[in-house]
Amino acid sequence: MMENVDIAIIGCGPAGLSAAINVKARNRSLLLIGPQLCSSSLHKAHRINNYLGIPEMPGEDLRKAFLNHAKDMGVEVTQLSVAGIYPVGDVFQLQIQDDFIEAKAVVLTTGVVSTHHLPGEEAFTGKGVSYCATCDALFYRGKTIAVIAEAEEHEDEAIFLAEVVEKMFFLPKYEVSRKFPDNVEVISDRVKGFRGGERLETISLAERGELPVDGVFILKAQMPMSQLVPGLELENKHVRVNLEMATNVTGVYAAGDVAGRPYQVAKAVGQGQQAALSAVTYIDKV
Ligand SMILES: Cc1cc2nc3c(=O)[nH]c(=O)nc-3n(C[C@H](O)[C@H](O)[C@H](O)COP(=O)(O)OP(=O)(O)OC[C@H]3O[C@@H](n4cnc5c(N)ncnc54)[C@H](O)[C@@H]3O)c2cc1C
Repeated sequence: MMENVDIAIIGCGPAGLSAAINVKARNRSLLLIGPQLCSSSLHKAHRINNYLGIPEMPGEDLRKAFLNHAKDMGVEVTQLSVAGIYPVGDVFQLQIQDDFIEAKAVVLTTGVVSTHHLPGEEAFTGKGVSYCATCDALFYRGKTIAVIAEAEEHEDEAIFLAEVVEKMFFLPKYEVSRKFPDNVEVISDRVKGFRGGERLETISLAERGELPVDGVFILKAQMPMSQLVPGLELENKHVRVNLEMATNVTGVYAAGDVAGRPYQVAKAVGQGQQAALSAVTYIDKV
């Protein structure tokens, strides 16, 4: 059972870590959620040449330096995935696997959401395609589903789904080492897309062909923002923010790539700081 916090920060790249150290400096409690690498963008960047004061810095070195700085200030990264963020009165409830945690304010620093969709994915979203195991599992009680998992961290969600459904095809995008329950068939194949009529009927695989399913859960590290925070206003696929990094949802702030171009480390760090300070000011007023 996790403790409730003042500020929850979702994503631990440069924007999230910058927000985290500033929340920490203001002596407020925080939850920082993100994957082990924290920023796969920085990890991939060969050299960062335009971060002031430290030219020619390999992206990986900068990533480690940011993480070490945060760690030295007592910031911990929690490796869990958030399925939804819902305002309830003056606080937010964050749905984390089968648990909820409360935060007074939220800072979104999730980077750029991949716009790549499989054929049929958008057409069947809400009609058989879901991104949230905890939200939609019960619709599939006793049915057959497929689960596409991007990373090992999604296995707990898949196991939870397996307890509800009759049969699951588990399609990992990584090498699986864990043993799954008997009703789960792990398949190494490439998903080509989804087919159906009014609702999803089959998932198309490169080698196995069409598998009839009642539903598909796509467990992604980066969820579409509008799924994560219902009612969040977007502008050209980025979260719309003002100069305080406030979104249209009171108490929710956004910073870094998720809040728009240019996709740059210096901007992410600056916006992360602004978002944190705005969030602290907000919770002091509520
Ligand atoms: C190859 C390459 C070269 C680059 N070169 C430069 C350069 O030279 N100069 C420069 O300034 N910038 C450069 N960039 C861009 C820079 O890396 C990004 O602008 C910067 O990392 C953005 O920081 P961020 O914190 O907004 O997002 P990210 O660094 O993308 O971090 C966001 C994190 O949030 C996580 N996340 C997403 N959704 C969730 C969720 N639901 N729950 C928990 N965590 C979540 C993501 O997995 C990710 O780890 C480069 C990027 C790449 C890929």
